[in-house]
Amino acid sequence: MARVKTTLVSWEDVVRWSRGLASKIKASGYMPDVIIAVARGGYVPARLVCDFLTINNLVSIQSQHWTEAAKAEERAIIKYPYKIDLSDSKALLVDDIVDTGESLLLAKNYIQKNWNPSEVRIAVLQWISSAAKFRPDYYFMEVKEWVWFQYPWTRLEDTYQFFKRILSEESKYGKVEWDFNGLVKKFVEWYELDVGEEYFKDAIGLLMEDGILRKENGKYVYLGSK
Ligand code: AMP
Repeated sequence: MARVKTTLVSWEDVVRWSRGLASKIKASGYMPDVIIAVARGGYVPARLVCDFLTINNLVSIQSQHWTEAAKAEERAIIKYPYKIDLSDSKALLVDDIVDTGESLLLAKNYIQKNWNPSEVRIAVLQWISSAAKFRPDYYFMEVKEWVWFQYPWTRLEDTYQFFKRILSEESKYGKVEWDFNGLVKKFVEWYELDVGEEYFKDAIGLLMEDGILRKENGKYVYLGSK
């Protein structure tokens, strides 16, 4: 599995970007009655956009496409296809990023058909214009070259997945025994990403819980991926 290009996103970045996104929405004159957070990546930006636009109505829909860091599933699905009545409401779908755009397109279609709002627009922090199937109505940042945004809300999940890939790849060359610093060094080398000691420790802890790593004589031994 190839190493992917990543960008580490801080909580401060998220607040700054969400504020910037909200100002673009405000400047356009669109005042949504309800914000729909696209789970899971849209939760934090959606809540912040509510704050910056003083909007009280926030609901959510889970449209899922990527289940693992930087690895797309074949197609997107609406995980809980429930119905609510948004008749006569202007809605704003908020997500972290439009990459392929599959999950947002699906969410928008589902909402138009089943929730019946008078209008739906889409707002995201990042728009990967080279990969996306459409251009969102509002975006804070256009990204021309594909990169994996390591958002703070997937830090542990991504660290875990990235470690799994390193361990699996390195085991092909016979490397199955690691110490903590060796694992961290490899991670930083592969992904040019330093998520901090706590996340490294938590991710390694999860790998042990899942039986992917075992500690023997002070070393972490790779047992194969589950
Ligand atoms: P997509 O349907 O391809 O537009 O992506 C669906 C979801 O996967 C996004 O809302 C993100 O939560 C996650 N995702 C996809 N691509 C990226 C990326 N390049 N960086 C970070 N998260 C991503």
